[in-house]
Amino acid sequence: MSIYSISEARQKIQDGELALKDLVNQYITEINSQNGSINAFVSTYHNEALEQAEEIEKKIKNGTAGSLAGAVLGIKDLIAERDKQATCASEILDGFESVYDATVIEKLKKEDAIFIGRTNMDEFAMGSTNEFSKYGAVKNPHDTTKVPGGSSGGSAAAVAANMCNATLGSDTGGSIRQPASFCGVVGLKPTYGRVSRYGLIAFASSFDCIGPFAHNVEDTARVLQAIAGFDERDNTSANVPVDDYVSAIQEPKKDIVIGVPEEYFGDGLDSEIESTIREQLAQLEKEGATLVPISLPHSKYSVSTYYVLATAEASSNLARYDGIRFGYRADKATVIDELKAEEKEIRSKYDASKADEADKMEAELARLDSALIRLYKKSRTEGFGNEVKRRIMLGTYVLSSGYYDAYYAKAQKVRRLIQEDFKKAFEKVDVIVSPTAPTTAFDLGSKLNDPVQMYLNDIYTTSANLAGICGISVPVGTHSNGLPFGIQFLGDTFQETKILNAARLIELQTK
Ligand code: GLN
Repeated sequence: MSIYSISEARQKIQDGELALKDLVNQYITEINSQNGSINAFVSTYHNEALEQAEEIEKKIKNGTAGSLAGAVLGIKDLIAERDKQATCASEILDGFESVYDATVIEKLKKEDAIFIGRTNMDEFAMGSTNEFSKYGAVKNPHDTTKVPGGSSGGSAAAVAANMCNATLGSDTGGSIRQPASFCGVVGLKPTYGRVSRYGLIAFASSFDCIGPFAHNVEDTARVLQAIAGFDERDNTSANVPVDDYVSAIQEPKKDIVIGVPEEYFGDGLDSEIESTIREQLAQLEKEGATLVPISLPHSKYSVSTYYVLATAEASSNLARYDGIRFGYRADKATVIDELKAEEKEIRSKYDASKADEADKMEAELARLDSALIRLYKKSRTEGFGNEVKRRIMLGTYVLSSGYYDAYYAKAQKVRRLIQEDFKKAFEKVDVIVSPTAPTTAFDLGSKLNDPVQMYLNDIYTTSANLAGICGISVPVGTHSNGLPFGIQFLGDTFQETKILNAARLIELQTK
């Protein structure tokens, strides 16, 4: 089917050339034919989407429709939608359904967006390949032997495969921008506090941001416009006015000042990605941009700092999954049987009629966990996948009393230094440019046994989350291996307009 931007779809509907119901049906057909191989959606609700289409079409015709009429969206499976599953692609949330809408969902509904399903992801948004999902790996629509990137791989792939015209993902260390790069779509991580986190299931609360994926910069701006803004239900939401992003990019400014950080064009960067980005920058310069070499000296610590702090926060956030309150619970009868069997074994070892043996037996029995503690442990053991367990252990370790100062407290200090690097840079430049990721999408399975290699794929993205600033990835070229890749623009806090503007220039230049 052809690719419709949100505004094109709406225009065609208004002109009577396309029925919204038909558009939804076309997406349903795409999902039905491609999802078996791509695995981008983990649950769909086609009938509801078709019902919504009918109502919204009427509103378009009578002129009362919201700004997202014509948008058909997929939502990452960690953002609460009332009466829909929200599993974070984890066994531990198996069967869990939200009882309320996240603020972003409320806002999108108000603007007449249609929701078509829940998108796949790495379990609890931890990963860079979307292979850590209870639903199985997502495949890159450009080459199904490659990863789509992660953790919002399903959201990126759904747009790339044209199964909908936009999606929401979340970005804690790059999970919107990196999959956008791998899948050849636009993805934006807003400033921390720009978009409400109310209804977003937490991974690392001081990093997590909800943001859009779309086919183009304008749709990205349109969805951001709808979800941005202050929310009193989120304590970290910022009460800062929201720009008119959509208008701002209609005639993008060309005389922008772009910071080029030497640290982001060093070892490990694919040479074709580097040369393409440098060519595009030269072209922007010709058209009126000013390129300024800058330095972000602490960025070499960003991946390690990120993995200390994000795992620390995750270990605390994930403590709530105890098998009692949400989702999955280990079988209680088995737990009790096991406890009884262990008790029995201990009793059989001792002759309780002899005082010293009876004492030993009592001491050993006292060390047995209660049935409740066992139920917690077994539920968590069975419910969490290995990567999530690795993060919980790492996070618990860096927070433990003997290591807190050496790791957690130290990482907090480095986070501040990284923030200050950016603050200084943004005194002189409008945006900072970098590759989004050092490579194009790699083979499925190729980094599964080497977590450090996988973590290093986040080398250009984590610093934005550490600093709380905004970033966008926009497709910039196709590699000789046939795969797309993106260019990243970072902007100071609440400067989404500037990164959208820069991304729009690249989009115009590369089309
Ligand atoms: N790849 C990073 C990680 O695994 C980022 C994840 C994210 O942004 N949610 O933690």
